[in-house]
Amino acid sequence: MSYFDVVIAGGGASGVMAAISAKLHNPDKEVLLLERQTNLLNKVRASGNGRCNLSNQHLNADCYFSIGSSDKQKNKFVQTALNKVDYPKTKKIFESLGLFLRVDPYGRVYPYAEQAELVIDCLIDYLQKLNVEVWLQHELTDLEELFAGANSYSLHPQVNFNLSISSLSVSDKLRKENITKTIQCNQLILACGSSAAKNLGGVENGYKLLKQLNVAISELRPALVPLILAKDKTFQVLSGQRFKGRATLFANRKNVFQVKGEFLFTKTGLSGIAAMELARFIKPKNKYLLQIDFVPDLTKEQLKEFAANCSKSVKEKQFYHIAKGFVRKNIAKYISSRTKTFQELIKNLKELPLEITGTLPQEKAQIIAGGAVLDQISLLSFALKKNPNIYVCGELLDVDGRTGGYNLQWAWTSGYIAGQLRSMF
Ligand SMILES: Cc1cc2nc3c(=O)[nH]c(=O)nc-3n(C[C@H](O)[C@H](O)[C@H](O)COP(=O)(O)OP(=O)(O)OC[C@H]3O[C@@H](n4cnc5c(N)ncnc54)[C@H](O)[C@@H]3O)c2cc1C
Repeated sequence: MSYFDVVIAGGGASGVMAAISAKLHNPDKEVLLLERQTNLLNKVRASGNGRCNLSNQHLNADCYFSIGSSDKQKNKFVQTALNKVDYPKTKKIFESLGLFLRVDPYGRVYPYAEQAELVIDCLIDYLQKLNVEVWLQHELTDLEELFAGANSYSLHPQVNFNLSISSLSVSDKLRKENITKTIQCNQLILACGSSAAKNLGGVENGYKLLKQLNVAISELRPALVPLILAKDKTFQVLSGQRFKGRATLFANRKNVFQVKGEFLFTKTGLSGIAAMELARFIKPKNKYLLQIDFVPDLTKEQLKEFAANCSKSVKEKQFYHIAKGFVRKNIAKYISSRTKTFQELIKNLKELPLEITGTLPQEKAQIIAGGAVLDQISLLSFALKKNPNIYVCGELLDVDGRTGGYNLQWAWTSGYIAGQLRSMF
């Protein structure tokens, strides 16, 4: 039976970084990286619209959320990790792999040539250079923990786990068959990612393995995904309209979260970077209200002053004409269709109420909020507190970030720390 000192399940951003870190910190250990798909780093390839927004210069725990932990617990966990692997450290790692980085005016970090493939190439080259063994189309399906004494028959006294690995093989008659084999290892890193974006390989495998290990998983919700809105008669005129504004999310009249940035109305609701950041707060079956401010830089008084002057010269359709001074034509049409008084017009430009009925499903989401509950994970090593030979990293943990490079940074940070294999120190 094959034996490896360290096996990493999942060849996404966190798993690849964990494999690199494991070899850098423990050059003598045999490290195996398992990936169930035909390629490593599929989500990285699609990230940032193919440009790969791999980090953000303005990095702190406030840019991250957690479903099952309090803000205080989450901040402590995330900030401790970011203090170890922050943006300068990440930059140094990528530069040592031969990749120069570019920072845009918002602090978002990309490879200098803005091509995700370059990030993938340099990571894969480095895996080869470090002699990490990579098995593509191999999936960890099951694991058996061996207890003290159970390994006395093994050639490797360090064996802690038997791992069942399923692989796709093409037989002589060109028939595809699933073959299962068992390998053994001393330490295991779970980097299976989330079930977001099934077309890029999002699966629930990681959650199943965690459940098998009796690790509590928080509620899971699609995040960074468009919102679905209740539609009235004229809603369709909004489809395809972009705007820069501010949106405030309310649940039971309580302000839940506010975002400012780019929005895009779609056939079903609201998309765009800013809108997608609200999705993680939407719990199924709850009622939510969105208030949109199309002119966040202007006060109601400034709007009134402008409208008072311009309405004198416009006799018909005055609400539409005033609205057009601030928003695109079709948005002005929609706003004026919901306006009966001058006061209402000002209110609709600053606080247009829209009802949220849900979000698009996890297949359409960039990430999933929720995962392995943080109080079960050692803050220093990312090992399971109840089993120091198993580490968890990446999106499988109950940490989700805002848009802007925060999620990939979390994958690099958590993967690097898990790969240090520090649970025993
Ligand atoms: C379209 C899109 C665009 C994005 N853009 C950005 C961006 O610009 N910036 C940003 O910061 N974030 C972005 N993200 C989010 C970011 O890509 C993820 O948060 C990050 O890739 C998570 O890394 P991970 O290693 O935890 O999981 P993943 O990247 O999902 O990797 C997990 C891997 O494990 C494999 N796997 C699962 N189970 C097993 C198993 N049992 N055995 C073997 N292999 C297994 C999967 O096939 C997968 O390859 C984007 C996501 C999407 C979908």
